[in-house]
Amino acid sequence: MEKFNVAIDGPAGAGKSTIAKAVAKKLGCIYIDTGAMYRAIGVTVLQKGIEPKDEANVAGILDDINMEIISKEDGQHILINGTDVNGIIRTPEASMAASAVATIPKVRLKLVDIQRKIASRNNVVMDGRDIGTYVLPNAEIKIFLTASVEERASRRHKELMEKGENCSLDEVIKDMIARDKQDSEREFAPLKQADDSILVDTTTLSLDESIMAILKIVEESKLNGTV
Ligand code: C5P
Repeated sequence: MEKFNVAIDGPAGAGKSTIAKAVAKKLGCIYIDTGAMYRAIGVTVLQKGIEPKDEANVAGILDDINMEIISKEDGQHILINGTDVNGIIRTPEASMAASAVATIPKVRLKLVDIQRKIASRNNVVMDGRDIGTYVLPNAEIKIFLTASVEERASRRHKELMEKGENCSLDEVIKDMIARDKQDSEREFAPLKQADDSILVDTTTLSLDESIMAILKIVEESKLNGTV
């Protein structure tokens, strides 16, 4: 099988994880959710009683954090020093902690190194904020997935309510705007559409339509010989 990587970037709640996971399954690639990696560092920092924005202290404990990425039947699992943290990384606190630690260059360098190693050994569909611009600048296919902030917040709110997290839609919109701002204004590898990426706006698309749109882009790239 030919080697190819798909980079999917975009703001919070654009549907990246669900869509990328389905696309990876269809293409027979490994799916890597890089947001989960920043979340895992964020919750570990919180557990240690460190403020996620405290660059010196966060950087100081990084060498003691061993992260393993495991592919299981139900998707990607992250182990921190041997403990599976998947169950605790999807809360609003974990989102904000992830976005804060993600501004710290030492955190990014540690995670980017793991991401590049996995992508060099496997065909991957990798989603995040900086995959097409920084992590895998030579990815064969680059997609920038977005949707209006209202639509993204309403999807995330529904997801949280289904999981029994009690929060208002207004809170989710506020968090999302804060996270978008922090992600796109940070100095190191900010959220930004890569010049050579294809924009897919999912505001009015269903999940299936979004998946189909990306599979079509992959197919067309194959026909054009990009892949
Ligand atoms: O994608 P998700 O919402 O799970 O990402 C959580 C946070 O991790 C983002 O708000 C962003 O700050 C950070 N992140 C990042 N670079 C990536 C993936 C996520 O900075 N490649």
